[in-house]
Amino acid sequence: MNIIHDKYIIQNETYLKGMILTNGIVFTQNALNVALIEKAKIQNQVYNMPINSEANRPQELIITNRKDNYSTVVSCVSPVDESKAVIIDADYSGELLAIVNKKILDDVVIHYVQEPTYYHKRITNGELVKRYVSACGLDELDILPWKGCSISKPCRFCGVNNYIRRGDVTATAVASSICFWNKRSYDYLRNLQEAINIALKDACYKEHFHLILIAGNLANDKLDLECRIFSEIAQFIMPLAGHKSREGIVAVISPPNDINLLRLLKNSGVTNVVFNLEAVTEEGFKKYCPGKNDLGFNYFMDRLNAAVDIFGKGHVWSNLVLGLESVDLMLPECEALAERGVVMSANVLHFDKGNTLDCGAPELGDVVNFFFELERINSKHNFIPFYCAKALRTSLTNEAHEKRIVLK
Ligand code: SF4
Repeated sequence: MNIIHDKYIIQNETYLKGMILTNGIVFTQNALNVALIEKAKIQNQVYNMPINSEANRPQELIITNRKDNYSTVVSCVSPVDESKAVIIDADYSGELLAIVNKKILDDVVIHYVQEPTYYHKRITNGELVKRYVSACGLDELDILPWKGCSISKPCRFCGVNNYIRRGDVTATAVASSICFWNKRSYDYLRNLQEAINIALKDACYKEHFHLILIAGNLANDKLDLECRIFSEIAQFIMPLAGHKSREGIVAVISPPNDINLLRLLKNSGVTNVVFNLEAVTEEGFKKYCPGKNDLGFNYFMDRLNAAVDIFGKGHVWSNLVLGLESVDLMLPECEALAERGVVMSANVLHFDKGNTLDCGAPELGDVVNFFFELERINSKHNFIPFYCAKALRTSLTNEAHEKRIVLK
């Protein structure tokens, strides 16, 4: 039986993903025992980690619909209110079960997303491969050239600076002087090459993979330097992996001050740029992204427009955090941006360690409604959602596109 929620029919795996994203998960001890057997990937702690959670909490589940084998991946969001959480339990045979509103959900097969085998492998100099690349969802190959973020004021939902460990190369260090990167880049790129070659052999990238260059911002006045570094890395990895990945190279970056540098990114092999607004109304942007707001709302808008001219319609993306603003305010703004050629998406707000938010998680009804309506907007322009349902673990954009949510 599919699930009927308000005016929508939702396939069971998508319903479960939506319930987990809005209410979080509590694992039973039986389920945690299965996590060890299935070699579950635990929290990467690269740039986020749920509040109230231990470092060994499983990071993601893959949920498959028993009837048609459609699969999606969901982040193991931790609950704000445990009484409303989805319970993940295991039966005597070790099969995972989801208990939603006190009932076992039918027709879904649940497994942990496994830790990629390359997480334990090392490159020649002895460093772990995962210092250079990591996996988000099932099949993202994420390259983070530094840890942390040096934006003038952190976004209020983000705890990225809580995961810097001793010995990490930080945004602050890279921003300190051009010499820092110049000295580092030769060794970094060779090590990255070795790490990518090892990682790409992993089973998680067998079907396809998404090559994503992403990092916290350098300081507000160093975004041109950031763009030049991203371009240098893109140029280097293009022949190595860019042509094999599903979208080419995706660069998630705050745009440079000098708009001409967008062309450098494109000429270096970047196929899609992502400038995340996070909040799409001027009011929300000011409130929740004070550091980005120091750059200016129009700074982002101007560069989104310029990027469409350079990369083409459908190759410029912007992501939002669903839950910061009302859906009624978000959708018209998304529509206006789509008209200009920008593909919009959103992650459902979840509470990471280090956030300073004053709002709660959105309700399932709002989440389903937003993604259904967003799909209507994007489909008018033939825009395809970012990545795939097994990569985008905190969004229902792909599911809406793939008709896992339809009107009753
Ligand atoms: S720009 Fe904002 S969301 Fe991005 S890493 Fe920095 S604080 Fe986090």
